[in-house]
Amino acid sequence: MSLGSMTIDLIRTAVASGATTATAVAEQHYAKIAAEDGPDGKNIHSFLALSKDRALAQAAKIDAMVAKGDALPVLVGVPVGIKDVLTMVGSPATAGSKILQGYMPPYDATVVQRLEAAGAVILGKMNCDEFAMGSSNENSAYGPVLNPWALDRVPGGSSGGSAAAVAAGFCVASLGTDTGGSIRQPAAFCGVVGMLPTYGRISRYGLIAFASSLDRVGPFATNVRDAATMLGVLAGKDVLDATSSERPVGDYVGALEKPVGGLRIGVPAEYFGDGLDPEIRAAIEKAIDGLHASGCEVKQISLPHTKYAIPTYYVIATAEASANLSRFDGVRFGLRAGEAKTLSAMYRETRDQGFGAEVKRRILLGTYALSAGYYDAYYRKAQQVRTLLTRDFLAAFSEVDAIVAPVTPTPAFKLGAKTDDPVQMYLEDIYSVAASLAGICGISVPCGDTAAGLPMGVQVMGRHFDEETMLRVALAIETAQ
Ligand code: GLN
Repeated sequence: MSLGSMTIDLIRTAVASGATTATAVAEQHYAKIAAEDGPDGKNIHSFLALSKDRALAQAAKIDAMVAKGDALPVLVGVPVGIKDVLTMVGSPATAGSKILQGYMPPYDATVVQRLEAAGAVILGKMNCDEFAMGSSNENSAYGPVLNPWALDRVPGGSSGGSAAAVAAGFCVASLGTDTGGSIRQPAAFCGVVGMLPTYGRISRYGLIAFASSLDRVGPFATNVRDAATMLGVLAGKDVLDATSSERPVGDYVGALEKPVGGLRIGVPAEYFGDGLDPEIRAAIEKAIDGLHASGCEVKQISLPHTKYAIPTYYVIATAEASANLSRFDGVRFGLRAGEAKTLSAMYRETRDQGFGAEVKRRILLGTYALSAGYYDAYYRKAQQVRTLLTRDFLAAFSEVDAIVAPVTPTPAFKLGAKTDDPVQMYLEDIYSVAASLAGICGISVPCGDTAAGLPMGVQVMGRHFDEETMLRVALAIETAQ
């Protein structure tokens, strides 16, 4: 299998010049998906549903624009996929859950409309952990995604399908969501670029919510420049999402022209402890040396509350999930338990049959953390610690322009390796959840392979709404590989 190496520029140039058509590009990708992406346990299984009618109609529209000589938008003809927590008219939206099996959403997510307005062709909906809860994609009710680099390993999660599909060349870019690491971690496991934009940078309208104060939409791509292009298309105020920011959208691709010399790079001691795999440590140290060689000033920094990030995240995320998931009751969406005799039995049985074990665990944990008598001890306390974690970053960013750290403690692990031990699975997020809690931006960039041939990623974190600097540092790391 040839892993993904297509870029947005290559597709756009080929379609715009008439060397190929958007329709031919879409059909070639669908053929590859048909051959290599089945749900049979031997294939990658990154797509849950294909949106062929809509994709081919969009491709025909693009081809007509090219034929007429119209001005062409930036993603012209580019085949993309979207995580199945986002809504798109004409395709089911399951969020990887049985409770939403067959649910057809009545409206498009804002990001879907922005992608199509920019000329992208959306091929389908991507497999993910149920309601985006997980770090391995093994919590999908529709079966796991396999890592394209090693089919006995996980692609990461929860946006495992979105990462694996870009790595495998089923699409050129994709959308995932990241609540505590779900874009950055699968990007690292699959050897692609994955970006967590600042909270509020991209609209969440049409995103099936997991934890609303943490959820963010972001792109996967094969390279940093494409991630910057995607961000430029997706970012910006949306009147349909009150948490989307009014701040002007940056020139993310233009920013990549600026050299990194003179930037101050922070290396946080807390992210390089005993649990870090030696090969990942060495790869990140090499990336940092490369930045130094490019004229960056490298500084040791401290983010002293880092050790509280995982427990804080798992209180806040589960509490918000328990509230968000109360809407799935068999009345309005998807599955309804047919045999129940009373309304409350119908609620209970629908939720019992529809939710998987991890989702139930989180609803229980979150309901407990929010209940009268425990709210102050857990939820309020967690929010206070969240403020301390945010202050750590704000203090660090008064001294440095970007922070470089690992994304994951290990490379992709084997399927089944952590499914019996939820705490082990939660510890996967040790390097990703602090940026999520603080609302800052982060990106995972490939930084080489292990001796066993598994991809590794390095994380660059930036100030709130300073994606430009983060992307410049990410590009410098990518270029030095
Ligand atoms: N792995 C984390 C969790 O299970 C993060 C998930 C995410 O970012 N959506 O909650």
